[in-house]
Amino acid sequence: MAMAPPRDHAGRASAVIVHGGAGADPADGRDELRAGVQAAALAGWRALGGGGRALDAVEAAVRVLEDHPRFNAGRGSVLTSAGTVEMDASIMEGDRLACGAVAAVSRVANPITLARRVMDDERHVLLVGDGAHAFARAVGLPDCDPALLITDRQRARLATHVPDSRGTVGAVAIDRHGTIAAATSTGGMVGKRPGRVGDSALIGCGTYADSALGGVSCTGAGEAIIRVVLARRALDHLQGDGEPDAAARAAVDLLVKQGRGEGGLILVDARGRVGYAYSTPLMPVAWMSSGLDAPRVPF
Ligand code: ASP
Repeated sequence: MAMAPPRDHAGRASAVIVHGGAGADPADGRDELRAGVQAAALAGWRALGGGGRALDAVEAAVRVLEDHPRFNAGRGSVLTSAGTVEMDASIMEGDRLACGAVAAVSRVANPITLARRVMDDERHVLLVGDGAHAFARAVGLPDCDPALLITDRQRARLATHVPDSRGTVGAVAIDRHGTIAAATSTGGMVGKRPGRVGDSALIGCGTYADSALGGVSCTGAGEAIIRVVLARRALDHLQGDGEPDAAARAAVDLLVKQGRGEGGLILVDARGRVGYAYSTPLMPVAWMSSGLDAPRVPF
C-alpha cells in the first residue's frame, strides 16, 4: 500500500530516485523488483520529511535495498570466484563535496552506513578490506557473519556461471535546503576475482554529488564506468540547463561508445528534476518528488 508522502515539503522541490541495477532480468520477478525499489523510494522520501537531509534519504533508501535479498548489495550480493562476498559502497554530499567509501568488505550488513561513517569521520575517503572492518568495529557497527549475506540464488548463479548478473543499488536525493546527495552499494560482478574493486566504491565513477549541478549513481560494467569516470561526467551534461533525461542518455552513450560497456544511471539536477537512462534490457527505477502523491515506478 502506498504511504502518504510527508506534508511539509514546502519551499524548494525535494526528490529522491533509486535504482536496482542495470542487470535485472525483465522476465524474472518483476513484481518483486517493483516492490523493492518502491519501498526504497518511500524510505528515502520519509527521511526527507520535516526538513530531513538528502544524505539521510539516500542512506535510508540504499539500506532498504541492501537488506532485500533480491538485489546485488548487502544480503543477496553476488559471489566472487572463491564463493565469497566482497561488497563496495560510496556516498557523497554535494554542498561540501564530502564523501566516504568502502571496498571489498564482507563483515557488515549495510556497507552504505559504513561508507557514511567514513565520510563523517572526515579523515579518509576510502577504506578497504580488513582496515574497513576494523574501522567498523571502532565506530560501533555490529559485526555480521558473511555467511548471512549469501543467498541460495547467488550460490546457484556462481555455480551455473550466470555471465552478467548486475543488480547494484543506488539513490540520489535533493532536500528542501537544496543539498544533493548520492549513494551506491554493490556486491560487484558475479565471479569477480577476490580483491577486485569496481566503480561503486569510487567517487566520480559510481557516485558523485555537487549541489550546484546534481547527483548521480551508476550501475553496470564497473571497469567501463571507471574508464569514463561516468558519474562526474554525467553532470557535465547538466551544465547550461540540460534536461535530466537527455543528460543521463548522453552519459550512457558515452559509457557504451568510449567505455565499451553496458549500464545505466540515475540523476537529480539542482532544480529537483530526476532523470535516468540505461543500455541494458532493464534497470528498475522508482522516484518520489514534491507534487507526487505516490512513487513513480515506470517499469
Ligand atoms: N557496477 C558494479 C560493479 O562493477 C556492478 C553493477 O552495477 O551491477 O561492481
